[in-house]
Amino acid sequence: MHYYFEGHDTVSLAEDFGTPLYVISEERIERAVKTIKDAFSAAGLDISVYYAGKAFTNRAMCRIVENCGIGLDTVSGGELFTALSTGFPAEKVICHGSVKTPDEIEMAIKSGVHCIAINSPAEIPVIDSAAAGLGKTANVALRVSPGVDPHTHEYITTGTLDTKFGLMPEELIPAAKAVQEAKHLNFTGLHCHIGSQIMDDEPFILALSIMLEHVKELHEAGITVNELNMGGGFGIPYLPDEKEFDMYGYAARFSRTLDGLCTKYSIPIPKIAVEPGRYIIGPAGITIYTVCAVKDIPGVRRYISVDGGLNDNPRPALYQSRYNAVIANKYGDDLPTDEARISGRSCETDTLISSIMLPEAEIGDIMVFEDTGAYCYSMAGNYNRLGIPKIVLLHGDEAQVIKREQTAEDIASFDEMPVWLEK
Ligand SMILES: *Cc1c(COP(=O)(O)O)cnc(C)c1O
Repeated sequence: MHYYFEGHDTVSLAEDFGTPLYVISEERIERAVKTIKDAFSAAGLDISVYYAGKAFTNRAMCRIVENCGIGLDTVSGGELFTALSTGFPAEKVICHGSVKTPDEIEMAIKSGVHCIAINSPAEIPVIDSAAAGLGKTANVALRVSPGVDPHTHEYITTGTLDTKFGLMPEELIPAAKAVQEAKHLNFTGLHCHIGSQIMDDEPFILALSIMLEHVKELHEAGITVNELNMGGGFGIPYLPDEKEFDMYGYAARFSRTLDGLCTKYSIPIPKIAVEPGRYIIGPAGITIYTVCAVKDIPGVRRYISVDGGLNDNPRPALYQSRYNAVIANKYGDDLPTDEARISGRSCETDTLISSIMLPEAEIGDIMVFEDTGAYCYSMAGNYNRLGIPKIVLLHGDEAQVIKREQTAEDIASFDEMPVWLEK
């Protein structure tokens, strides 16, 4: 038997498109978006969803996001440019980033994005004068660091006090007043993002209650928060024994907390927005590799090396992230009998999976890594001058390339030879 992904035989995909290969399922993206929308509407809330493009962006993805009827969160000129180049509606784009260059600010203001999220008081006059220079008004939201520790990996924690992201709580009122007084800024609301890969709803609910206290403080200062954006961070199961994030339970609890606190504080209920990245794209993607080496070290372990790794998925190296993998051409037939370590092909100890039980592996086997849709392609690099793999999109029975692979020639083509080294 072979391993199938959304009705497609992954061994055939490997034959048709070559490996390493990223595969993305359009239906899975749509289903995840629908789960979020349905969960919140079941809880009586009409929320805005902005897909966090940093998890995985390219032109086809922007179009899928647009077709899902949701907005997009961008963190750089590159992401914003990609979205606008597909005709993505600017008014459904949020611009984030703890650093925004003058060019990026100009692109955001000119295109008329939904809002630019401000991370520090110093950004206020910069964006105001950029808007003045363009003869426009810029929509801005204030990002606050709610001081919540989401108990996830340190590198993906962003909402504690010791962070480059967001205003400190005591900076909020003066910043909101400065935005109101600025002639070319329009205050849209508050934003927070406490971290990523959070499996439990507790930190989110805590962040909500802290943010509603801020909404109340601003309300008392005569400043209305129209939109409260709670950021992303919903976790996904990466291993077979891990549970799904309970979106329905979370939405219900969120809605109750929101209603309760808005009543208690006598404040109007702000429009709620969320910015999931991983939840939407993570389970929608797999990576297909070919086994290129099998090495047995008697009494130690077996090493299986594949034709990709660090450069198409740096997460195990960066975050000790864990993944599940299967041998696609032996799936279901051969029982997992061998404990193995899976490594990549970089000249580095690029362990992808430290220990996993698999059927006996041979050179030429097709290996599939599950749940690689988020932060793999978007974090990929050219270490060892390895090209970033191609991406294939599945849509029903169809499979089409949405990004071609980088060849050795592509990589070398960016090099320039200074005159004194020319031959
Ligand atoms: C990273 C990020 C997100 C998305 O995070 P996920 O964990 O992928 O959902 C959303 N908003 C902001 C501001 C972010 O930095």
